[in-house]
Amino acid sequence: MPQCGETCAHPYPAPAFVRALKVPCARYGEWLEKQAQSCRLRDKREGKPGIEEYRKRIHQAVLASEGRDFYTGEPLEWNRLNHVLPLSGGRKRHLQRGHYPSVDHYTGTSCLDFRLCSALVNHAKGPLSHQQFLELCQKVVSQRQRREAAKRAA
Ligand SMILES: [Zn+2]
Repeated sequence: MPQCGETCAHPYPAPAFVRALKVPCARYGEWLEKQAQSCRLRDKREGKPGIEEYRKRIHQAVLASEGRDFYTGEPLEWNRLNHVLPLSGGRKRHLQRGHYPSVDHYTGTSCLDFRLCSALVNHAKGPLSHQQFLELCQKVVSQRQRREAAKRAA
């Protein structure tokens, strides 16, 4: 086992905020590998970059996130990397899955521009751009406020 810290031998060492939650570099590396493979698979370009480029860019996005959800600013639950991802399906399992750190294709699936967010936020955002997602969230909040105001007026 390579020693972690100053003498870490992992090509992509778990960032300090991940290690602080007792996720070892090896587990982080497995997660990174899975994300890289899945992002590369969804990239439909001819002559897309090799897997190493995806690993590198996702790792950079993780470092840039400082551990937080890009869209909500909430801390991501990196400790969940120590647990097996529940299978999808079912409301409860879906909500559990929702806490996992997830890689968002920020500007579409055909480029290496990634952001970190929770799986739930990623799911809610779907194929929307950041601007479209923001507008949708604003509409939801505005409608809620209109209903509340109407209730108070009644
Ligand atoms: Zn390490």
